[in-house]
Amino acid sequence: MLSGFSSFIKRHSTTVIVGVGLSLAVPAAYAIYRYLKNTNQQANAEASERRGEKLNELRGKLERLLVSLEQIVPEVAENEDEECIVCNSSKAVIQTFPCKHKVLCRTCFVRTLQVAVTDFNLPLKCVLCRTRIATLDRERHEENAMQSGSSI
Ligand SMILES: [Zn+2]
Ligand SMILES: [Zn+2]
Repeated sequence: MLSGFSSFIKRHSTTVIVGVGLSLAVPAAYAIYRYLKNTNQQANAEASERRGEKLNELRGKLERLLVSLEQIVPEVAENEDEECIVCNSSKAVIQTFPCKHKVLCRTCFVRTLQVAVTDFNLPLKCVLCRTRIATLDRERHEENAMQSGSSI
């Protein structure tokens, strides 16, 4: 289902947040984050300028994403084990790899990402165990493990 999603984001990056469902909007923002993370090592001026542009773009997207997330009623956790460890009310739905912790709701994950981007504190770490987050998607993680590269 997610095959070709990366190229979809590249082609429709300005409309992707409005055009797709919220379950896809988080990965869309995360894809840009991954782009930033992957270009982190490039030190030349042109790359850092491009990075600055991407960073502003990502900030804007995260801002809009948070607004749209606030307009929907979050899934409520049915028991304590399902609770987001940040807000303690919504259901934790974002799973991070490789540590496999599923401890954040969408809103809290996006907020965490927003803070990390603003503070330039990348790559993002799991809020629970501080492991560097490689991906949110098991499929993609296994793909990356095999290819040791990124298509984004
Ligand atoms: Zn939360
Ligand atoms: Zn973790």
